[in-house]
Amino acid sequence: MPGKNVGGVLRVCTALVMALVCHLAAQTRPAADVIITNANIYTVDKTKPRAEAVAILGDRIVAVGAIAEVDTWRGSNTKVIDAGGKLVLPGFDDAHVHLVNGGKQLESIQLNDATSSSEFVNRIAERAKKIPKGEWITGGDWDETKWDPPQMPSKELIDAVTPDTPVLVGRYDGHMALANSIALKLAGITGKTPDPPGGLIVRDARGNPTGGLKDAAMDFVNKVMPPLSHDRRLRAVKRALAHAASLGVTSVQDMNPEYADVEVYSELLDRGELTARIYAAPMITGWEDQAKIGIRRAFGSPYLRMGAVKGYADGSLGSTTAYFFDPFTDTPNTHGILDAQMQPISKMRQRILGADASGIQLCIHAIGDQGISLILDLFADVVKAHGQSDRRLRIEHAQHMAANDFERFAQLHVIASVQPFHAIDDGRFAERRIGPDRIKRTYAFRTFLEHGVRLALGTDWDVAPLNPMLTVYAAVTRATLDGKNPNGWVPEQKLTVPETLEAYTMGSAYAEFQDQEKGSITSGKLADMVILSDDILSIDPKLIRDVQVEVTIVGGKIVWQKEAHPTQ
Ligand SMILES: [Zn+2]
Repeated sequence: MPGKNVGGVLRVCTALVMALVCHLAAQTRPAADVIITNANIYTVDKTKPRAEAVAILGDRIVAVGAIAEVDTWRGSNTKVIDAGGKLVLPGFDDAHVHLVNGGKQLESIQLNDATSSSEFVNRIAERAKKIPKGEWITGGDWDETKWDPPQMPSKELIDAVTPDTPVLVGRYDGHMALANSIALKLAGITGKTPDPPGGLIVRDARGNPTGGLKDAAMDFVNKVMPPLSHDRRLRAVKRALAHAASLGVTSVQDMNPEYADVEVYSELLDRGELTARIYAAPMITGWEDQAKIGIRRAFGSPYLRMGAVKGYADGSLGSTTAYFFDPFTDTPNTHGILDAQMQPISKMRQRILGADASGIQLCIHAIGDQGISLILDLFADVVKAHGQSDRRLRIEHAQHMAANDFERFAQLHVIASVQPFHAIDDGRFAERRIGPDRIKRTYAFRTFLEHGVRLALGTDWDVAPLNPMLTVYAAVTRATLDGKNPNGWVPEQKLTVPETLEAYTMGSAYAEFQDQEKGSITSGKLADMVILSDDILSIDPKLIRDVQVEVTIVGGKIVWQKEAHPTQ
């Protein structure tokens, strides 16, 4: 009996001591820099999926939970963001972008919606006035069928407004461009230049070039265009970063950047101007450059890392260059083309084995079923040669799967780095191209999950839009862009919103060896998150594509805000 009393006293003492310790801790620990409160937080952390508030100290999350709980972190200088009950998610991690191309696209002249030849000319004239002498005008995506009246443009239209500015503006389909006289002169194109194989120089009645260049003929001009200057590259990256911030993309995995791109990222890192975290994976043909100086997978800081390479097995479905076992249904004379990097395959095996032996992560583009199969063979060679280890091999796109390769994907622990937007884009013509059987294993996101394969989500921007809401919409609805499959194209492959979010945050973070650092709203992780205008977990999935990002936070800092939120 006395023992019980002693125990009781001890328990009371312990409780008192604990309360005192907690009180002291609350007094001595620093207050949060930012608290987001009154929020509908979906954490993508299975141990604690829902919360009402989150506290941030420095660049890290320090508390996630109920409002009262998180409020203990509030101090006099804490910035409090009242989320007004809106959905808060971890920031989106786009596992496959081409950042500089994306920025260049945003930077380049927009001609696509011009409604007349005079508007086309005026836009080019304005651009020419704004840029330094001698700088090229490129891009454009003009579409003369939208003009009133429609008229194929010629160099005479634009020569007068571009006396000192070389111009090569592309038609929206990518198969034709318009050059002005300076550009033709720099390229050495005259009436006497013969058409190149696979290309056409458009000529007038007297045989003189009109400025129109089709397919391979565009290369004459492309070849003489100077490489992107440091300034223009910097401008493009800044545009890309601002675009990413406005869309809630807090991390990007940059596929085959040039080294000069990485230099720009590094410069922006220095200045504290990186508003998205970048994992750069240069081309596999240069794998020895990183290996030489001992850069291994995910080397670097939370904002800028390297240690991966990107390779190519084949081309794309749209251009019938994806490499299949069987011929295309609508183009039976071909079953695709292996990329030059795969010719011969032994050369690619050498690169892959060499990079892996040096600790470099492998991200290989493979789209057709045989292209994917061949890369799985090479990955199996890697495991055989170097043993099992946590190397997180990746196949980029992984679009069209052979039936028995899902199992191999799982066994080799290969990550499927996929882009759902391509599914609703290709879905317009894919069945015509590859027929009703192969279509069942096309963009087979659910089958991957059923086999225990990790998905990482991305967009392939600038090939597809960077907006994560379009990607979530695509994965969840599989409604093709032409509106012909409102209930989903191969609907059995649809993902749920939680599955999509997991793949787009934790899945992508895992694919870049950062799942301990980010990808969920978890105490201790980097404070990267977004506040959305609507709850994409409960609204009609058709409406997801119109949802907007209201606030984007990277490393505890607001990098984008749609409108002023009540703060105190
Ligand atoms: Zn790509």
